[in-house]
Amino acid sequence: MSIKTRTFNVLNPATGEQIAEVADGTAEDATRAVTTAAEALRAWAATPPRARAEVLRRCYELVVADTDRLAGLICAENGKSVADARAEVGYAAEFFRWFSEEAVRPEGSYGEAPAGGARTIVTHRPVGVAALVTPWNFPAAMATRKIAPALAAGCTVVLKPAAETPLTALAVARLLTEAGVPDGVVNLVPTTDPQGVVSTWLADARVRKVSFTGSTGVGRALLRQAADRVLNTSMELGGNAPFVVTADADLDAALEGAMIAKFRGGGQACTAANRFYVHSDVVAEFTDRFGAAVESLRVGPATDLDSQVGPMISERARDGIRTMVEAAVADGARVSHRSAAPANGWFYPATVLADVPADARILGEEIFGPVAPIVAWDDEEKLLELVNDTELGLAAYVYAGRLQDALRLAERIEAGMVGINRGIVSDPAAPFGGVKQSGIGREGAREGIREFQEPQYFSVDLT
Ligand code: NAD
Repeated sequence: MSIKTRTFNVLNPATGEQIAEVADGTAEDATRAVTTAAEALRAWAATPPRARAEVLRRCYELVVADTDRLAGLICAENGKSVADARAEVGYAAEFFRWFSEEAVRPEGSYGEAPAGGARTIVTHRPVGVAALVTPWNFPAAMATRKIAPALAAGCTVVLKPAAETPLTALAVARLLTEAGVPDGVVNLVPTTDPQGVVSTWLADARVRKVSFTGSTGVGRALLRQAADRVLNTSMELGGNAPFVVTADADLDAALEGAMIAKFRGGGQACTAANRFYVHSDVVAEFTDRFGAAVESLRVGPATDLDSQVGPMISERARDGIRTMVEAAVADGARVSHRSAAPANGWFYPATVLADVPADARILGEEIFGPVAPIVAWDDEEKLLELVNDTELGLAAYVYAGRLQDALRLAERIEAGMVGINRGIVSDPAAPFGGVKQSGIGREGAREGIREFQEPQYFSVDLT
């Protein structure tokens, strides 16, 4: 009897063409993955930190050595430009290097009980089997940003990549095996039934942790399910990053930062600058110069090596952006500059919206595309009100001539990360994450490993 495995198609968003067929995981596959992860847990948790660190270090080296192939897969299934894809592979690899270094730096304490007569020894234990769920916009880095700290902490994992981009995660998983990650420690379940697979995991008593990166709406739904089992959760959710430019900012630097903060990955980054607040003294010059740079952006498929901005992930995403721009124009914004874009595939032209009213609907939505609305401001207090008038608080950017002004503004912006005179905030050594409905917990840095550990203390009688 032949067993037919159900499969789904992976499409190239630059052409809409099928590039691969992937096994479509079911709830039974999800349970099998947890069984394997649970069986591997004890041995992996008991593996000496140095040995775990060395495996992670080899993961780093193998991912770096395979940059061309991994970047090719990212380009093919996600559509981003070759430069963006290569940068993502470097960023993804760094999480293995960083957490190989953290794996051997256990933190604990030895203290005297205030009442005397006892000592308290604090250590950190792996939380157990962790369920990881990742989005399509950084198919390599969103996976490694979770896998590396989980493994460093001694956890085993089950991971569900986004159905749009399973190929990169599968390729990374194969490299992990080559690097010496034992069987059962990392288990992938690609699927077109995210709810079926993930809810199976959240209901399984052997799963002790869920770490999710994706939209706030899905994060909220997973938090509800996690509540039933009082599950340890980490949530990296949506953003609505403001990009603030003061009257005395270095405009050359602000323009360079704006291009990176807005157009990296075609604007499909949770940290993407979503709304530009530029002081009225410089807004005309900023808009003209930014607009000129945007008009000359090359929007096209990654097969054109000069492309700087790729397609949107799907036809639906592209149409959604078109609708948002139409609504912005209806609200009084003006399309001031626009790049060219190919007619085929799911491309949207890089676009600048000028004279955007401060209450335009587009400023309250995560655009997730190459559209830059610009709002002029005069009064710092009113600016801060507008900037903070959102339930999201992931990233923000401030360009100011004086560090004092930049820091004063940054400290009052409700965001987990603020780029100061810098258009990029991501760094494996820094705690990535948001406040308000942008998430719970942090990835990267020292904090990243803590998300996969629980403190345990020993109270020792000394009498
Ligand atoms: P999404 O929430 O639709 O999907 C994310 C993941 O959740 C995918 O793997 C998807 O298959 C899965 N999923 C979807 N519905 C589910 C359900 N009902 N139950 C369980 N799993 C489900 O998000 P997306 O469109 O893939 O990604 C874009 C979003 O992710 C944006 O909002 C972006 O800001 C956010 N994001 C956040 C970060 C961060 O670090 N904060 C990083 C990247 C992306």
